[in-house]
Amino acid sequence: MSIEQYKGDMEMCCRCSACKHIPLQMVRNPAHSYACPSIAKYNYHAYSGSGRLIIGREALSKGINYTDRLLDIVYNCQMCGACDISCKYAMDMEVLEPISEFRMKCVEDGHANPALDKVINGLHKTGSMVPVKGKRGDWAEGLNLKNATKEKVDVLYHVGCLTSYDKDMQKLAKATAKILQKAGVNFGIAGDAETCCGGRAYQMGYREDFLNQAKKNMALIKKAGVKTLVTGCADGYQAFKVLYDKYNLKGDLEVLHITEYIDRLIKQGKLKLTKKVNLNVTYHDPCRLGRLSEPWIHWEGKKIPGYKFVFDPPKTYRRGTNGIYAPPRDILASIPGIKLTEMDRIKEYSWCCGAGGGVNESNPEFAAWTANKRIEEATSTGAEALVSACPWCESNFNKTLKATGSSLKVYDIVELVAKAI
Ligand code: SF4
Ligand code: SF4
Repeated sequence: MSIEQYKGDMEMCCRCSACKHIPLQMVRNPAHSYACPSIAKYNYHAYSGSGRLIIGREALSKGINYTDRLLDIVYNCQMCGACDISCKYAMDMEVLEPISEFRMKCVEDGHANPALDKVINGLHKTGSMVPVKGKRGDWAEGLNLKNATKEKVDVLYHVGCLTSYDKDMQKLAKATAKILQKAGVNFGIAGDAETCCGGRAYQMGYREDFLNQAKKNMALIKKAGVKTLVTGCADGYQAFKVLYDKYNLKGDLEVLHITEYIDRLIKQGKLKLTKKVNLNVTYHDPCRLGRLSEPWIHWEGKKIPGYKFVFDPPKTYRRGTNGIYAPPRDILASIPGIKLTEMDRIKEYSWCCGAGGGVNESNPEFAAWTANKRIEEATSTGAEALVSACPWCESNFNKTLKATGSSLKVYDIVELVAKAI
């Protein structure tokens, strides 16, 4: 993959600016019409999806002049894909792919962001994208869980870096283990042998590091003979399901997000949610569980140049409509006492939590600004709690809430399920 292969897509951009907002037909409230956090914050066309395509297009024809401003634009993007989905409401062209390839080119040309370089150096040393204290499997001490690298299991629970190491997020791993045990699932963890999925390295622009992690993970999975992998992290989910497949590394591994798996267990009658959890909630669709989680569609064919170009055979575009939207909502509907009120921007038009694309690490102020916009939207629904299905969302929302003093609570969906069993 390279930026060059998206030349035609970048040339197709007509600068209509539809990628800045959710499609007009979907706008429920003008206050919540923006799709792209970067253009909403920086208010200059170059920071939009379109601006990034124009930069890429010019770079291909004239070469890249690496200025501080250019790198500011490149790294102040959550890689959330909202521009891509809004554009594809009307157009058949790729937006996020060339944006991602351009960032990778910056890294390959030696213009990585120093804050992200630090994170990747940590990944090289520890196999983790977050600071490491203790061992990766310490959270499971005393829970009597199977080690999937030593015992035969049906399901491997991939915990993820943040949930494994962050003391505030380990509760999600414990809740997940409790749910799977209660449902009688023969599952295991890789414990200290687990390593980062590589998904966040990919978002940050480090393709080689992503591929190294992907190969390590697939070797572990193959050795363990595991056929199904479950994760509660939206970044991990997208990495295993979509990115590994994009690079032909996934094989026939079944990849499920914990919300898909819990929904399945409930519908099979293996998990009963009986305890009341009286709470008015609203639900945040994580970008990489929603619009960016569609299966990768491989396309082998010819790009025929013309006025623009045509694909032969025609190429199927991923438009975000087949993300994981129903399972989390069905789970919430199954919990007695939960009342769900939807926000204005939902499903493929969800606003990003702010933590993606390395922005959490390179520009925490922008990450918090983005989270705060979502918190305001959640608060306007009258909900007492904002529920998500990714530790990165919960962590970024909580950090931001602390600073605002808002009384809104934040939960991951597994915490509510654990309360209800
Ligand atoms: S990227 Fe798509 S939506 Fe944005 S300006 Fe270009 S054509 Fe319009
Ligand atoms: S990926 Fe997200 S933050 Fe980046 S340009 Fe597109 S909408 Fe904006």
